[in-house]
Amino acid sequence: MDTTQLYYLQAMGIQAWQAQPNRQQDCAWQNLQNSVRACTACGLDKTRTQTVFGVGSRSASLMIIGEAPGFYEDQKGEPFVGRAGQLLDAMLQAIGLTRDSVYIANILKCRPPENRDPSALEVSLCTPFLEKQIAHLQPKLLLAVGRIAAHYLLNTKTSLGQLRGKLHEFHKTPLLVTYHPAYLLRNPKDKAKAFEDLQLTRRTLEHTTV
Ligand code: SF4
Repeated sequence: MDTTQLYYLQAMGIQAWQAQPNRQQDCAWQNLQNSVRACTACGLDKTRTQTVFGVGSRSASLMIIGEAPGFYEDQKGEPFVGRAGQLLDAMLQAIGLTRDSVYIANILKCRPPENRDPSALEVSLCTPFLEKQIAHLQPKLLLAVGRIAAHYLLNTKTSLGQLRGKLHEFHKTPLLVTYHPAYLLRNPKDKAKAFEDLQLTRRTLEHTTV
């Protein structure tokens, strides 16, 4: 911090030591982004166009966690774009939220070829990045969308149908589960259940204090 910044902080009544944590957090977040961008740990770097770190507000109460980038995400470098992304946006709007007001990330940061399921090795090598994201963002609530995310975060193989509708926890952070938008595009009859999950998400956010 230079002397000019110090001068203005003092003029605003802010002690220099109060401003430091934000700066350290920004640095840690930037380092994490750089680590993901450079990562070659599981070999998916060989087929990715780019890594997909995450998007949204770093002060979000709700963090949405999906599976892995697909074709459009890999091209754009952003999670949940294309038709599934549009449906996710509509789902968020249904409970008064927007893409910018939440944080969205995936279990894997690189696209598996042909959109196959992530392997156990890929999940184990990549999820430390996600766990650091969660620790940094400290959201009030996690929403796992789809089977892969729910199974990893809850360390279970229980069906999604049995996991949804109940409040779970991931490392003491409350967690709910719902269907992946890509699944809902293929199975529109389950959209009504997804809407129930979103209403539960809204109610949980309103009643959760951290
Ligand atoms: Fe690294 Fe994750 Fe990409 Fe694999 S998927 S190369 S572990 S960032």
